[in-house]
Amino acid sequence: MSGQPLLNQLMDALCCLPGVGSKSAQRMTFYLLERDREGARHLASVLAESMERIGQCSRCRTYTEAEICTLCANYNRSDSQLCVVETPAEVAAIEQATDYRGRYFVLGGRLSPLDGIGPREIGLDQLAVILDEGQVGELILATNPTVEGEATAHYISEMANGRQITITRIAHGVPLGGDLEYVDSGTLSHAFAGRRMF
Ligand code: ZN
Repeated sequence: MSGQPLLNQLMDALCCLPGVGSKSAQRMTFYLLERDREGARHLASVLAESMERIGQCSRCRTYTEAEICTLCANYNRSDSQLCVVETPAEVAAIEQATDYRGRYFVLGGRLSPLDGIGPREIGLDQLAVILDEGQVGELILATNPTVEGEATAHYISEMANGRQITITRIAHGVPLGGDLEYVDSGTLSHAFAGRRMF
């Protein structure tokens, strides 16, 4: 690849972004060269530094450049609620959409024995250490409503069993503003099974 002209290398490199194919990569390449070389230089330096310095929080496993992330370091948040999610992006989504003030734990994936992803790979030994501290009163399982996400939630709930912990699962179902008629049957049956007191 290093024998290729730089122009082609740049287009190839941009294809590592999700949703970017060769056409969009070409458009981005010409845009940056023609209109925003300064922005591109800035992007390159921030990218390089980020890849060097951003690691995982030693407690909740979300991304941070410090030993402990700002959410874990925040004394105003409650230790009694712990929300388990699959990815750091989901932490950001919950933070933006809700007024949740508890803690998080980021699995960084979900159980998938066929792909060699077991409890250790998603940090469940680390999660057990946190649960052993005895501060968590409610464990919120916010893994995705996929087969593997459900299996992961089930596995974690078994793990937490026997401790004095309330285990809750976020509701999944009909999107707001949605029309029941157009919701797929899996989503609808999930929403129906997860109904609650009105
Ligand atoms: Zn953290």
